[in-house]
Amino acid sequence: MSERRIPLSDIDYGPEENAAVLRVLANRWLTMGPEVQAFEAEFATMLGVKHAIAVANGTAALHLAFVAAGFGPGDEVIQPAINFVASSNLTVALESVPVFADVTGPGDPTLDPGEIERLITPRTRGVVVMHYGGYLCRMAEITEICRRHNLKLIEDACHAVGARYLDAAERVPHGSMAGAIGLAGCFSFFGNKNLAIGEGGMVATDDDQVAEKVRLLRSHGMTSMSWDRHRGHASSYDVVLNGYNYRLDEIRGSLGRVQLAKLEANNRRRGELVQAYREGLEDLHGWTIPFLDYEGDSAYHLMVVVAPDPSARKKTVDALRLEGIQTSMHYPCVADFTAFATTRRDGLTRSRHFAERAITLPLYPKLTEPEVEEIVAVIRNSAD
Ligand SMILES: *Cc1c(COP(=O)(O)O)cnc(C)c1O
Repeated sequence: MSERRIPLSDIDYGPEENAAVLRVLANRWLTMGPEVQAFEAEFATMLGVKHAIAVANGTAALHLAFVAAGFGPGDEVIQPAINFVASSNLTVALESVPVFADVTGPGDPTLDPGEIERLITPRTRGVVVMHYGGYLCRMAEITEICRRHNLKLIEDACHAVGARYLDAAERVPHGSMAGAIGLAGCFSFFGNKNLAIGEGGMVATDDDQVAEKVRLLRSHGMTSMSWDRHRGHASSYDVVLNGYNYRLDEIRGSLGRVQLAKLEANNRRRGELVQAYREGLEDLHGWTIPFLDYEGDSAYHLMVVVAPDPSARKKTVDALRLEGIQTSMHYPCVADFTAFATTRRDGLTRSRHFAERAITLPLYPKLTEPEVEEIVAVIRNSAD
């Protein structure tokens, strides 16, 4: 096996990030201060929401959003079977019940809105959607179903920072940003995400009560922050909720601001590379490229192709590995992990079909068109 030449993802860091970190060190305030506040304000502006609350990671964002939505013991929360495991783990941690919904199909591996109607019971409390690969779910239908049944809608927008919904719909205005549509939107800034700061996350919401609760729970349920006390704005505090420490530090807050400023151009660049992949692979017999007819403005987080069968996938992944090209797969069917063995998991045929065939290909702003052509050629050769 050769040394890895083309990785799955890579960060876009340069002198701006270095300068941001040095600025924080020179200012001598390390956590939850002016950088984090500015990052939150700039992020809220980008999304067009009232509140953006920075937290330690995407999982913390989901946790606080679930608590603020009121998910508790015995509540059923409908969620896609194709997802990173964080949402489902947290559902169980809150003693709620994850109810796994099937995805639409290989061309659209996001939650099938029709599944919500199939799975709804008197105990259903909420729905979690995940905008797979940076492409928004069918939000017009989903928001309508949630409204009709009074379900709390949480968006796992970890793949979709900067993505825009361009279908006009009654409950989803044209141009709505991913994460700004449901009761709360959750983001991750993990090292391989489109906006990467190492570890970090954000909860976005227009709901004042959700925002208040998330802010309190982020830091022990305390009514004032040490930054406020440092500036003499508060001398004491009360603890009004049993909270956590999910704070973000100033170093990563400053990195977030630099990465946010680069986001639009980087997402556009990712889109160009996705287009190059599509042109190279579109006519490959038996293979599916998800979201070919997607109408919105994706964040292009992942480049995924779906092989005709599991053995074709293995053959192609092996061929790519021999050429030093890293691949991954997003994701195994969550319902089939051991930790969910006692959960209801019928009717997930399309999720399992997808999980057995999907391949994630390299995608990051500094990938080049010749590299995409090389990857396409290896896939085409192995698929013959
Ligand atoms: C990355 C990711 C998460 C978790 O975010 P962390 O910052 O790693 O906690 C959750 N859901 C999805 C879809 C993700 O991609």
